[in-house]
Amino acid sequence: MDNIVIFGAPGSGKGTYSAELVKHFGFGHISTGDVLRGEIQACTELGKIAKGYIEQGQLIPDELMIDILTKVYDEKRALGKGVIFDGFPRTLAQAEALKSMLESRGESMTIALNLIVDDAELIRRLLHRAEVEGRADDNEDTIRKRFEVYHSKTKPLIDWFRNEGVLEEFTFKGSCEGMVKELIDKLESLQS
Ligand code: ATP
Ligand code: MG
Repeated sequence: MDNIVIFGAPGSGKGTYSAELVKHFGFGHISTGDVLRGEIQACTELGKIAKGYIEQGQLIPDELMIDILTKVYDEKRALGKGVIFDGFPRTLAQAEALKSMLESRGESMTIALNLIVDDAELIRRLLHRAEVEGRADDNEDTIRKRFEVYHSKTKPLIDWFRNEGVLEEFTFKGSCEGMVKELIDKLESLQS
């Protein structure tokens, strides 16, 4: 079964491209950001904890995040269509946990798609999204914090993926359609 990681800075389009890949390949989609926002909306205990971190632009603690991810993964895996991980892993501890969680189920990471988008474009998108979606963490201060966290805790995973032999990089060149096509072509080349 395919276990695909989609990776990139805040605003790099992980959610948007995941939706396109789900449409094309039928994968199950796991967006940890969406899972957490759903918990906040439903006012669960987990939602209450997550809210504080998200509004500060900070990461939810690894242990908690790994538990959530494992539960959601087992639900999606049961559908047997392959899974796309969007927004996870975000730290080295999460990456190691994902690797052993997959191994213990006889699975492995198929590929990590790293979306490369320049900073000016990322900020433009996030501020635009703030206007249309009204996400609480899409304001200038929180965006700055999320970038700091991305650079210090998440970006180092690129080397980790490379070491695992799963890294593939895609640079945004001005067209979302072009990016979607490159991603689909790459995944199709793996399936043949
Ligand atoms: P985009 O979806 O545009 O790429 P993003 O990556 O900033 O933007 P989400 O993935 O939706 O947005 O995450 C929003 C917030 O949820 C994060 O800033 C963090 O607080 C929390 N979060 C999501 N995934 C994780 C994770 N794997 N570990 C810890 N915290 C997480
Ligand atoms: Mg997202």
